[in-house]
Amino acid sequence: MNKPIYLDYAATTPVHPTVLEHMLPYLQGKFGNAGSEQHLYGWEAEEAIVEARTSIAHYFGGKAKQVIFTSGATESNNLAIQGFLKQFEKPGHIISSKIEHKAVLEVCKYLESTGWQVTYLSPNTLGEITAQQVVEAIRPETKLVSLMWVNNELGSILPIDEILLICKAHQIIFHSDATQALGKIDLQNRSLPDMITFSGHKMYGPKGIGGLYLTNTSISLQPLVFGGNQERGLRSGTLPTHQIVGLASAFKLLPEMLEKASFYEFWKQKMIKMLQQHFESHLILHTSQSVVPQILNFSLKGVDGENLFEILSDLALSNGSACNAKTKNPSYVIKALGCSDAEAFATIRLSMGWMNTAEEMEYALGYLEEKLKQVYERVG
Ligand code: PMP
Repeated sequence: MNKPIYLDYAATTPVHPTVLEHMLPYLQGKFGNAGSEQHLYGWEAEEAIVEARTSIAHYFGGKAKQVIFTSGATESNNLAIQGFLKQFEKPGHIISSKIEHKAVLEVCKYLESTGWQVTYLSPNTLGEITAQQVVEAIRPETKLVSLMWVNNELGSILPIDEILLICKAHQIIFHSDATQALGKIDLQNRSLPDMITFSGHKMYGPKGIGGLYLTNTSISLQPLVFGGNQERGLRSGTLPTHQIVGLASAFKLLPEMLEKASFYEFWKQKMIKMLQQHFESHLILHTSQSVVPQILNFSLKGVDGENLFEILSDLALSNGSACNAKTKNPSYVIKALGCSDAEAFATIRLSMGWMNTAEEMEYALGYLEEKLKQVYERVG
């Protein structure tokens, strides 16, 4: 058993061995530029990209031209939101939420500085956002709803189907950041938002690759990155063949990733039981009715969040999004649930993944209990 035990799969996942195997030939022998039309190297790369694009589109039930490759979810969110809103001469209104990833929130903030108005829906104390809140926020000038499918810190699942119906009824474009949904819930054979963001490194693919899937093919997007006109001019830059092949390979593994749901649920329930049994009066469980089984998030009252992770050094856990971890600010997601700064600092997100074993989980369970008991003995 390797220590620290990796329990931070929501931050990033390792590349699955099958994915790596598919990628390697495109880093060495088949290293051509898909834009090189004059020789075999270019043709090989182009063929691999066409195949990957088709296969990803197939996952969503669409055609190759509906997939735009980007460097990851951050860029996809930027392209979806800014790229769509650029067409409007007069700023209008956007609906999003307080618990979106910064890759949506910071875009909204920027747009506010250019005159757009944004309604940030507030979650309840469990992290839930309802479709009714969307209905109430809609204005005649609302151009876009951008709401994530699964929250990266809480694992809560938003009522995307209901929101989709509302957006359709009001003819408002709906973008969803599904970065944390892929591999955790099944997105196949169902109605989908107009634009969907995804990222390789959250689903056992490589870092630095992601995409935007356009369910709605009549959407007009404008590019944010200009250059050699790749991706139909929507995102210039040489296509990273190995990354794209890896991403498509990771998409093929998605149904398999769902098969471990009962393993995650079993260990999550054991963790919750242990926490409730020993730390009930200090515990704030951040779990809603609708949540993915991989993620468990809780705050501990009366402990110093600063030292918590040093004490728990056998486990690779986090206290929020890795993208905000360096800011030393308490998690804005946990604060949006009504917690204090101290509670938000003393928050643990445990996110399980494909490579976790029962032996690791058993160890993590006992270790967490033992170390948290020591923490509370010390604070008295
Ligand atoms: N959206 C969500 C919900 C995420 O969890 C993340 C990664 N933490 C991102 C966007 C950013 O993804 P990327 O690293 O691919 O830019």
